[in-house]
Amino acid sequence: MKTWIGLGSNQGDRRGNLEAAGRELQLLSKEKIRASPIYTTPALIPEGGPEAWRIPFLNAVIEMDWRGSAMDLLVQLKMIEAKLGRIQSERWAPRVIDLDILLFGDQTLAETRGEHHLKVPHSGLLERSFVLDPLKDLLPRFFQKARLVPGHSPLWMAILNFTPDSFSDGGELASDLDFSVRLSKLDDAQILDVGAESTRPGATPLDAKEEWLRLKPALEKIRSHYENRVFRPLVSVDTRHAEVARRALEAGVNWINDVSGLADDAMIDVLKSNSCDYVLMHSLSVPADPKISLPDSVDPVAEVKLWARQQLEKLEQSGIALERIIFDPGIGFGKTAQQSISLLKRIDEFMDLPVRLLVGHSRKGFLKTWTRAEAPDRDPETLGVSLRLAERGVDILRVHAANETMRAFQAYMETRR
Ligand code: ADP
Ligand code: MG
Repeated sequence: MKTWIGLGSNQGDRRGNLEAAGRELQLLSKEKIRASPIYTTPALIPEGGPEAWRIPFLNAVIEMDWRGSAMDLLVQLKMIEAKLGRIQSERWAPRVIDLDILLFGDQTLAETRGEHHLKVPHSGLLERSFVLDPLKDLLPRFFQKARLVPGHSPLWMAILNFTPDSFSDGGELASDLDFSVRLSKLDDAQILDVGAESTRPGATPLDAKEEWLRLKPALEKIRSHYENRVFRPLVSVDTRHAEVARRALEAGVNWINDVSGLADDAMIDVLKSNSCDYVLMHSLSVPADPKISLPDSVDPVAEVKLWARQQLEKLEQSGIALERIIFDPGIGFGKTAQQSISLLKRIDEFMDLPVRLLVGHSRKGFLKTWTRAEAPDRDPETLGVSLRLAERGVDILRVHAANETMRAFQAYMETRR
């Protein structure tokens, strides 16, 4: 039976505790387990509770295959909690590890055995963002429900460019050493978006062969950096070439981020032969051509949404489940600064599309409307936009300064009601 286990830790070596619990769950599972990204969330404690309890949690979800009853699994989970050093104490007190059965196939259960009262689905499932956010990363059908829960967090996508000429961080990763240093700073990353072709205005297009030659060693380094971990960032490859997407998927990446918006029809065949997630971005030209933008006479939101619906229909007709699709309105791709700003102001209007929503606004040119800062120095402005989009419920935010952004977001979450 496929079952989804919620994990939480806010005491001791939190990440180590999740890893240890993950390894134990792997031993219980008949199939290879799947692990969500890790979320950092405020501790849930009653108003006026002890300050010492206010330690943020790390939360994640694991999908496993269990061949016994749900009650037998609960007994096993309690044994793992004890083995990892959990002491039963007060309800809201910090804990080394908490393991909860969120879903057990599609069963609804209420059973008692001795001291254990088991309820499945878990009673807090639909009210707790720290459960629903990581669960929806494994089961995207929950994405709309996840948006509605107070405390909802976006998935933060860290940009890792492996290009000599990117618009804001070009050349930074040219050497192996730089790449390793950068990865070691990304231990909290939830998803890495790896790109080998710059899409900045005026960049030189790269053919698929050259792109793959740059990408392959980068993917290998990422793989070896996170080797032997249960919890590692998802990996997305930023490409418009179906051939590169195919090879990247063979190398084990999780998402394809197609900045061309299905310009290469062969992309559909690649998607059919795989179960990866797919980011569909609206663009009029890649690399971005500043001379090509939406006409002034159209409503940019309506235009981009119409395009999205047409492409989604095409994907659906090709047999690709919408659960796998993420839509990105393509800030700065074929839009004037004012059009990009309109899309951001009216981001709520994209929320009724039947797919997850990603926004990539980081360090982009529209920010020049307020700042003279050059692209590498636009993180403060980017952060302001990021926090607002997070508050509006955008599912995935793609940013350069992922670590700093996640720290800022944590502070924001800790001080909201
Ligand atoms: P928390 O409510 O914070 O998870 P505990 O881990 O101490 O606290 O859980 C208390 C009790 O919740 C467990 O002893 C268990 O019997 C009960 N319980 C009910 N439903 C579930 C479930 N789906 N998964 C795990 N525990 C459950
Ligand atoms: Mg529990």
